[in-house]
Amino acid sequence: MIFLRVAIPSPLRRHFDYLPPEHANTHSFQAGVRVKVPFGRRELIGILLEVVTETDVPTSKLKPVIDILDNTPLQPQYIRDLALWAADYYQHPIGDALFQSLPVYLRKGGEGVATHTYLWQATHNASAEGISARAHQQQALYQLIAEHPQGISKEAIRAEGGQITLLATLESKKLIKKVTQEHSLPEASHLLKEAPLVLNTEQQNAFQSITKDEGFNAFLLDGITGSGKTEVYLQAIHETLKKGRQALILVPEIGLTPQTVQRFKSRFRVPVAVLHSNLTDKQRFDAWMHASKGEAPIVIGTRSAIFTPLKSPGIIIIDEEHDSSFKQQEGFRYSARDLAVVRAHAEQVPIVLGSATPSLESLHNCVLNRYQHLMLRVRAGNAKTPEFQLLDIKRLPLNNGLSSTLVTQIQQHLEKGTQVLVFINRRGFAPSLICHDCGWLAECRRCDARMTLHQKPAHLHCHHCDSQRPIPSQCDHCGSRALKPVGAGTERTEQTLNELFPKTPIFRVDRDSTSRKGSMAKIMEQVQEGASCILVGTQMLAKGHHFPKVTLVAILDADAGLFSTDFRGMERTAQMIVQVAGRAGRAEHPGKVVLQTHHAEHPLLELLATKGYETFAKEELKQRHQFQLPPYQHIAIIRAEAAYTGRAEGFLQSIRDQQSQAFPHVQWSGPFPSPMEKRAGVFRSQLLISSLSRPLLQHSLSYLCANIETHPMASKIRWSIDIDPYDM
Ligand code: ADP
Repeated sequence: MIFLRVAIPSPLRRHFDYLPPEHANTHSFQAGVRVKVPFGRRELIGILLEVVTETDVPTSKLKPVIDILDNTPLQPQYIRDLALWAADYYQHPIGDALFQSLPVYLRKGGEGVATHTYLWQATHNASAEGISARAHQQQALYQLIAEHPQGISKEAIRAEGGQITLLATLESKKLIKKVTQEHSLPEASHLLKEAPLVLNTEQQNAFQSITKDEGFNAFLLDGITGSGKTEVYLQAIHETLKKGRQALILVPEIGLTPQTVQRFKSRFRVPVAVLHSNLTDKQRFDAWMHASKGEAPIVIGTRSAIFTPLKSPGIIIIDEEHDSSFKQQEGFRYSARDLAVVRAHAEQVPIVLGSATPSLESLHNCVLNRYQHLMLRVRAGNAKTPEFQLLDIKRLPLNNGLSSTLVTQIQQHLEKGTQVLVFINRRGFAPSLICHDCGWLAECRRCDARMTLHQKPAHLHCHHCDSQRPIPSQCDHCGSRALKPVGAGTERTEQTLNELFPKTPIFRVDRDSTSRKGSMAKIMEQVQEGASCILVGTQMLAKGHHFPKVTLVAILDADAGLFSTDFRGMERTAQMIVQVAGRAGRAEHPGKVVLQTHHAEHPLLELLATKGYETFAKEELKQRHQFQLPPYQHIAIIRAEAAYTGRAEGFLQSIRDQQSQAFPHVQWSGPFPSPMEKRAGVFRSQLLISSLSRPLLQHSLSYLCANIETHPMASKIRWSIDIDPYDM
């Protein structure tokens, strides 16, 4: 007798056994196919793990699988293995981990066939002359197709920005034709659309190290902003493509700007599959299939793209490896960066982690010789590194956060006709609204947080739970009408700058001003035109952008991050400062960075300003070592939340009481209320477990999770475990 062992997306950390479907051919079950099964009163889609001949469950209790959805698995074994490895490492239920490694379209039961089965090709002897010179989009579409003599798929045309709605028009003019797909790509000598740049010595050394050997090797490409890391990626990818292999590139959520993707598309004459959250489920699946069949030699995506199968993997690149968006912060809390290293090792391909501000974990991995440390310390081309000034604003009068010294500097740069970037990491008009008579503050009713005042449109907004309400006309507490905004966010800074520089165009970049599709691209286009202007914005401005005309970067307030309770607070602040600063002086004009602070004498801030990130990071690593914090110590957090105060903490306390004796070799700390205890109406608490030994911690946690599942309160309380947490 055989049984089908199935992984089901449920919170339970185990698999489930089923009987084969009635009337089934018993030889046709391949591990990895999707199956439809009865689960409680529902029908769910699961993934067949294996066919077994024994089960712990009495056969009479087993139900048959309802249906087998795929003839062969859509996901290769190595991707399932990666998801299973991650389930084990992150202590996550295997069914959910496997599920999350599949495109949503397949999780919902969509048919595992991509839409396109044919390619478009220019017809023999055709030319663009048959198209009216004014029909620009038709011209561009024809050009794109003609550039691909082997044919190009509809998805690739869409990905390249071609108008697929015009295909029928060109076909009716007999300029293009459909052909059945044969998976051939341009010959090695025809891969490039534009000539590569001549690498400088540092770039050349990095490039040679990366491409020298076959097989697994991990590199940290530690290159200051503007040092030409992307050029190194592009040339390493070229080597990969020449061997007929594929490149997988992960970029942060926010980094997936058209500018980034365009640099890859402009360089190579091959289809690029782009996986990001703005695609429909079906589009994402098509891009996934495109990668999986090897039709897209270059695959670019955000975090979850780490699970994209490649037919012939050649290299993995993680750009901005320090970025927090690579760690999923809820549900399946994996780090795509760390999984990428595991994947590269399993596939025996090189991996490049690139950043101007590498995470302390990656720097430590270089010290341990796990990664090769490749450094780029000069800016590429003629650009110079910007000059840094800590501007002590103690006792200085401030106009909504702007000191007069800074305003004078902004004025000077604008007069030279260059651009200024003003960074303030708070959106909205003001971070709080206060009653001038009694001191009442507008607080969120569902969180331990103040509500942010927004004026466009006018409302109070909690940035933690998203709840909103109209701006009150009177104080909730004393009825006074003397309500005043306190502090400044991007909207208020924009307003103040408008008053100070009425003739200068000001562009605000934050989540609110760019929520409409295409609005970010529009702002970027205007800035790239190069006229003198001021950009005001949040961290959305910090990452990846190349603004050749920006000569002054003003950081209004970085003090908040200096005294964070989170041990990563200082690292994150430094990364943010260096990344924003890196937008200054990226072309021929030299750049300057002014950082307003009340703590100009803060030793780490001073070190960062005078010696740069590398020295700062070494010092910060020493402190982590001294206090036995990651990366020297390995940690996991068990979090719990409940509708009543004390309940989550009580649950975690009872876990600690019951379990800590069984696991005496790991350190227990807590439970403590989470940094913001009440959030979105629930009370949150956390318990920290740590060890100097990773295997010991892992071993303890897997037993611990199994024990927690059987705790009488476990099903009544929301709890989760976070390995290598990013937020404390
Ligand atoms: P990073 O990714 O390290 O911030 P970029 O790759 O964006 O840096 O490079 C910054 C600028 O320098 C870009 O305009 C790029 O075209 C240019 N650049 C990169 N490498 C070279 C080179 N070897 N010679 C000339 N310009 C270069």
